[in-house]
Amino acid sequence: MCQVCFGVDVGGTTVKMGLVTQDGELLEKQEFVSAHDVEEMFDNIAAHMKEVLGHFPDYACVGAGVGVPGPVMEERLVHGCANLGWGDVDVAGELGRRTGLPVKVANDANLAAMGEMWQGAGRGCRDLVLLTVGTGVGGGLISGGRMITGSTGGGGEVGHIPTSFHPDWQCGCGKYGCLETTASASGIIRAARQFSPFKEQEKVTAKDVFDAAKAGT
Ligand SMILES: [Zn+2]
Repeated sequence: MCQVCFGVDVGGTTVKMGLVTQDGELLEKQEFVSAHDVEEMFDNIAAHMKEVLGHFPDYACVGAGVGVPGPVMEERLVHGCANLGWGDVDVAGELGRRTGLPVKVANDANLAAMGEMWQGAGRGCRDLVLLTVGTGVGGGLISGGRMITGSTGGGGEVGHIPTSFHPDWQCGCGKYGCLETTASASGIIRAARQFSPFKEQEKVTAKDVFDAAKAGT
């Protein structure tokens, strides 16, 4: 029987998940809106997993790997996710209890770095750095093929390095001056809003700002 597992990316806006074979072949993916409530979030993820597995009755699901946008300890515990509004959550326990599957949890950017090393741009590399620019700025560090998680699970979380001080721009973590207050997609939009033509424009995306920079306007 072919063995498969789930990869789940829990984001502040959406949850993306895929069922993959052990060779990394993606069999099916799903995307749905993130719930604000922790219980509802895991109920939804478990329900989608059940639905997907229903499409592959001949496959044996051996576990799930979950990425979350925050520091993770012991491959299961999250101590605060600013972008999800979470406090302490036992992610592996919550999802494992609902699905009966072994669940391992890691920081989303660290997992993205592992994914790139396994199947993507970092194939063949043992040392790599990955940066993500979205709602925040995430970073994943791999050295000698191993994920660098740091003593508090925040290794590679470069988005919260203090880089500037703007008295009005508070980071989701509560501090001021973090890199992601200016370099994330939302930070880029906020900075561009100080200037024309974006000051007057009703809707601005980070791509608009990049396009304008490319065009030299
Ligand atoms: Zn911060």
